[in-house]
Parts: sequence; C-alpha cells; structure tokens
Amino acid sequence: MARIYSCRRKSTLALRQRKDFLLSQLKINPDLLRASFVERFSVCGKKQCRCHQGGDKHGPFYYLTQCLAAGKIAKFLLKSPTQQQQAQRGVAHYRQLQEQLEELSQINTELLRREDPLD
Ligand SMILES: [Zn+2]
Repeated sequence: MARIYSCRRKSTLALRQRKDFLLSQLKINPDLLRASFVERFSVCGKKQCRCHQGGDKHGPFYYLTQCLAAGKIAKFLLKSPTQQQQAQRGVAHYRQLQEQLEELSQINTELLRREDPLD
C-alpha cells in the first residue's frame, strides 16, 4: 500500500517546489533490491534439542525474500554479515526510490487535477 501524501492541501507553488526537490534527490543506487529482509528463528530436526523443550529456538537467521508473481516467492539464506548488510542496504535503497516516485506521482496527479502542466 502506498503512503498518501497531502497534496490537495498544498498550494501549486508548494507542490512545484516539492517536485523540484524530489527530482533533484532522485538517484538510482546500483545496489538496490526489490525484496524484503527478514529475520527468523527456527526449530531443528533433533527431537532432544532445547528448541523442542521450550528453550530458545535457533537463530536469528536472515533471509532475502522476493515476490516474483502472485503466490511465487523466492527466498534464500543470507549467510555472511557482509551479505546481510548488503541486503539491508539494497532493500532500503529500493524502498526510498519507490517512496520518492510515489510522492512524485501523487504530486503530478494533483497538478493534473488542477489542470496545471506536468513538465
Ligand atoms: Zn534445536
């Protein structure tokens, strides 16, 4: 779900200034990842292990998950701390770009509604 930006209450000048700012900030980070970084704790296969006796579960384990199509999710274990950091950064960069594009689109929608030029 997209965040709703309060474009309707802003003046056209304010919208244009915000748009100029967003366009100046837009940057495609080469490491971006459209994915989620998830943390999991799990039980193992040994019935005698503490994890089956109410003790702590194993983990945390970190995964990168991606929704490729409806119901089709790709997931893999991020083994090294370097991999985990790269994944977190890439996911954050993608999300940031996505939010900037969404706000830009909402501003353009409002400018279009006001019959103001978009470019
Ligand atoms: Zn266990």
